[in-house]
Amino acid sequence: MKVDRFSTGRVRAKRASHGVRRYLPGGWSDETLPVNVFLVHHPVGLCLFDTGQTAGAADPGYHQRWHPYLRLARFELRPEDEIGAQLTRAGVDPAGVRWVVLSHLHTDHVGGVGAFTGAEVIVSRAEWERAQGLAGRLRGYVPQHWPLGEPHRVDGSYDLVGDGSLVVVPAPGHTPGHVALVVRDGEGGWLLGGDAAHTPAELPKDLAELCEREGLTPLLAHDDDV
Ligand SMILES: [Zn+2]
Repeated sequence: MKVDRFSTGRVRAKRASHGVRRYLPGGWSDETLPVNVFLVHHPVGLCLFDTGQTAGAADPGYHQRWHPYLRLARFELRPEDEIGAQLTRAGVDPAGVRWVVLSHLHTDHVGGVGAFTGAEVIVSRAEWERAQGLAGRLRGYVPQHWPLGEPHRVDGSYDLVGDGSLVVVPAPGHTPGHVALVVRDGEGGWLLGGDAAHTPAELPKDLAELCEREGLTPLLAHDDDV
């Protein structure tokens, strides 16, 4: 099996990661991080893990002006950096993607989902419910921008193919409904971890142990070392 990495532009965060100072204007970090999306070439079909950011997120009115999320991260991408456009350039028809698994529903993970209207979109039920309505918007979710219809909502773990080779597993922390995707290939494989951690060294203990036990390489959303 093969896993491709794409980054949908870059994200720049505030230099201070905690405290009220990060809400003040200025103070942007000199460094930027990737916004990674992973394409798994599974024998049964293509599986995309997360869909990255949309260039539309920079449009006035995409986020509510008052939301503090706007003041914490600055996304740098052009329409050609969206995942649908990148796959097309790489010779992969977005319409041929069979599954889209969303680690969680923050905009830099669900933003590009509109290019995959033919796919089965899989999200945890807890995450889906947390993103809805006014409470969801107060948490920074923007469900009004998702052309998702009714995605496949799963509880706990979920085996996509039925043979253990592609398994959605709960990975709560960053959000309560956050999930990871285990990709097993022969003796090893990968753990697509989303925002479960920024670097493999920071993985929660249960996920780190899973990787150790099964020989899985963790691949994370905002890690350049992938
Ligand atoms: Zn997130």
